[in-house]
Amino acid sequence: MADSQNYISKSHQDGKSLLPLLAEQNYFHYNDNNELFCENVSIKTIADEVGTPFFVYSKKYFTDKYQTMSRALAGCDFKIFYAVKSNYNINIINILRELGAGADVNSLGEMYRALKAGVPANEILLGGVGKSAEEIKFAIEKDIFLFKVESESELLLINSIANDLGKIARVALRVNPDVDPHTHPYISTGLAENKFGIALKEAEAIYLNSRLSSIQFTGIDMHIGSQIFSIAPYKAAIEKILNLCQRLKAAGINLHHIDIGGGYGIEYAGGKDFEFDAFSKEIVPLLKNSGMKIFLEPGRYFSANSGALIAKVLYLKKNGDKNFVIADAGMSELIRPSLYGAYHEIVPVSSSGKSEKMYDVVGPLCESGDFLGKDIPLAEPAPNDLLAILSAGAYSMVMSSNYNARMRPPEILVDNGKWHIIRKRESLMQLIQNEELV
Ligand code: PLP
Repeated sequence: MADSQNYISKSHQDGKSLLPLLAEQNYFHYNDNNELFCENVSIKTIADEVGTPFFVYSKKYFTDKYQTMSRALAGCDFKIFYAVKSNYNINIINILRELGAGADVNSLGEMYRALKAGVPANEILLGGVGKSAEEIKFAIEKDIFLFKVESESELLLINSIANDLGKIARVALRVNPDVDPHTHPYISTGLAENKFGIALKEAEAIYLNSRLSSIQFTGIDMHIGSQIFSIAPYKAAIEKILNLCQRLKAAGINLHHIDIGGGYGIEYAGGKDFEFDAFSKEIVPLLKNSGMKIFLEPGRYFSANSGALIAKVLYLKKNGDKNFVIADAGMSELIRPSLYGAYHEIVPVSSSGKSEKMYDVVGPLCESGDFLGKDIPLAEPAPNDLLAILSAGAYSMVMSSNYNARMRPPEILVDNGKWHIIRKRESLMQLIQNEELV
C-alpha cells in the first residue's frame, strides 16, 4: 500500500519548508539567481528542452539514502530489496541494483521490470496478497529467490505449480504480527483487521504441519505499513516474530532469514525522515542476536524525495475568494493529493521574491478532486511560470494514468552534472496503440 498521512497545508501550519532540507544536501536548491536546480542542473534548462510536465530525479539522493540505511545496519548480515512499486522505471531499479540491492516485486510486470533492469532472479522477492497462477508460474520458471506467501491456499497453488514444473519454490510466510504502526489507516498493513499476512498462530501451524513436497520454507516475512516514524511498532513486531522463530527452531524448523519489510517514513514537508540512528540502537542488536539474515524492503525512503514533478502555469483564475493556479499537470500525473489528501510542497522554479498569496494549485482534468495542493502560498505566479511539486519520486509516476486521454510525462534523471531522459513523453499514437476500430 502506498500512501501518506501528510495532509494539505501541513507545512504551512508549522511554518517549515522542505526545500531547505533538500537544499542542504544539494538535491533541489536555488542558485544565486533564485533559479531552482536539481543537483547542478537547471530545471528551466530541462523544461526548455523537454517541455512540461515532467518528473525529475536526483541520482545522488538514492545513493546517499542507501548509504544511510546500510550504515545503520552495520554489523548485521543484511540485504536490502528495493520495493520497486514506489518507482519502477528500469533506470531507477538499476541504480539500486548497482548499489547492491535486490528487488521486492508485487506483480508479473514488476518482476519483468526488475529482470530487465538487470536484477538477477536470485535477488528477487515476489509478494502480493493475490498472486495469479500466471505470475507464480513465471516466477518459478525464472527461479526467483523467494515467494512471500499470504495465505494457505496460495501456498497450495505454488506447491502444485512447482510440482508440475519439477521445481522447488522457496517460501517465507508473511505474518501479520497485529501491531499498530500508528500511521494512516490506508497504509497500515500489520493489524489483524488488515487483509495482509497470516496471523501468527496460523502461520505457526502452517510451518509445523505443512507436508508439501515442492515447498521449502527458508524464512519469515512482515511488512507492517508505510510512513512509520516510530521504532516501537518495528520492535514489537520483530520480537513477536523472533519468539515464533524460537518455537519453530525447537520443533526442528530452522528459518534462515527474517524480512522486516519497508515503511521507513520520509517527511513531505520539513522535519525529519525515519531515524536510523535509533533503529541502530534499538532494533539492530535484536536482529544481530537472531543469527538470521536480515532482509528489508524499503521503497519511499529511497525514492520519494529524490524527485519532483515540474509543471507549467497555464492560467490564473479567481472564483469567489479562491485564487486558483491552473497548471498543466494534475491528478493524472500525481494522484496522491486527490486520492489521500497527501501534502506535497509546491515551489516556483524561478523565485520572484514578490509577495505571497494563497492559491489552490489545480490541474486541467474534469474533476473537482483534481488538485496538486490547496492553500499553497506562492509569490504571484504568471502564465508560463514553472512550478516544482516536491517529494514526487515515490508512488507518483507509477500511479499516473491516461485519464482524459492525457499522455504520461517524461522522466528525467540527473546524474553527476548531466541529465538523461529515462522515459520519453507518451505520444498520441501510444494512446490508441492497443485499440482497433471494429
Ligand atoms: N513491502 C510491502 C509488502 C509493501 O506493501 C510496501 C508498500 O506498500 C513496501 C514494502 C514499501 O513500503 P515503503 O515504500 O513505505 O517503504
